[in-house]
Amino acid sequence: MAGVPVPLNIDTVRDAPKVLLHDHLDGGLRPTTILELADRIGYQGLPTPEADQLGRWFVTASHSGSLERYLETFGHTVAVMQDEEALVRVAAECAQDLAMDGVVYAEVRFAPELHVGQGLALEAVVEAVLEGFRVGSRRAAERGRRIRVGCLLTAMRHAARSREIAELAVRYRDLGVLGFDIAGAEAGFPPTRHLDAFEYLRQQNAHFTIHAGEAFGLPSIWEALQWCGADRLGHGVRIVDDINLGADGTPRLGRLAAYVRDKRIPLEMCPTSNVHTGAAKSLADHPIGLLAKLRFRVTVNTDNRLMSDVSMTSELTALAGTFDYDWPDLQWLAVNAMKSAFLNFDDRLTLINDVIKPGYAALMA
Ligand SMILES: [Zn+2]
Repeated sequence: MAGVPVPLNIDTVRDAPKVLLHDHLDGGLRPTTILELADRIGYQGLPTPEADQLGRWFVTASHSGSLERYLETFGHTVAVMQDEEALVRVAAECAQDLAMDGVVYAEVRFAPELHVGQGLALEAVVEAVLEGFRVGSRRAAERGRRIRVGCLLTAMRHAARSREIAELAVRYRDLGVLGFDIAGAEAGFPPTRHLDAFEYLRQQNAHFTIHAGEAFGLPSIWEALQWCGADRLGHGVRIVDDINLGADGTPRLGRLAAYVRDKRIPLEMCPTSNVHTGAAKSLADHPIGLLAKLRFRVTVNTDNRLMSDVSMTSELTALAGTFDYDWPDLQWLAVNAMKSAFLNFDDRLTLINDVIKPGYAALMA
């Protein structure tokens, strides 16, 4: 008996199984949590004491069109995440919020070195976050939403602790840390500054992604792949600079773009975040439209749920509206992301076959 396909809208997309590879822990706090944590530790720096206004302030401050200004907003979230109790709470709420949004698998990243201001050891930071993910996943399961959450450890690209953080990631790799990343302002801080960290990770058979090609162009992507050996690209939007549309609109890929596509290098794309930081003019203008059409290994991500006021559901619904995507396209994106996860192959396959495909089959009826 053939059923009727479920219409695609914000409520039905919420129930579709989604996979998230690029989400920052310090970019996804609930405004009420920021206020309560600030109150507990006596942090005076917040621009307003009211939750709705605070939420709006983060979004406005992030809309300035400047990546540097956008990164400033993290001063406040990081300020209230300096003890174990706060880290456990933020991570637990992150896992819960993602699960309630229909995310079935997530890799959430954070920079341990940003959470040691009050004396926490790097190890304690990692353990608190992992504990939070366990607590949040358990609470979500009690409400009928199953999620699996792992984390990536980020090193800040302007700092000099990347090798140390890479070693930390390897030490915790069987305990919930799935990989490594570098983040922060791209211009002036090429990934090759951290070559020793990447060489170490490769020697340890460990996985890593690199924020590259967000605000800065092709050289950054090229270095991330060909010098550093990144498994995935954080954003990677500027790869479109290596694609020429001929007079008749036929796309011609340059060597780097062809390499990225041929090697199925996953692009962790975060369209709304890119619009906010000025890396794309609008969703309609975002390179994800062309890159998905050309069958690059495109994945859709939130980046910073608080700053961009997005969820996986809102982002996918907006993309579907902009580019006319239907359930098969959303399934393609979820499977792309699951294939690109740093989780072991057996578990990736299980999630694809037992969770993602049946989920979309039900929606496509
Ligand atoms: Zn990011």
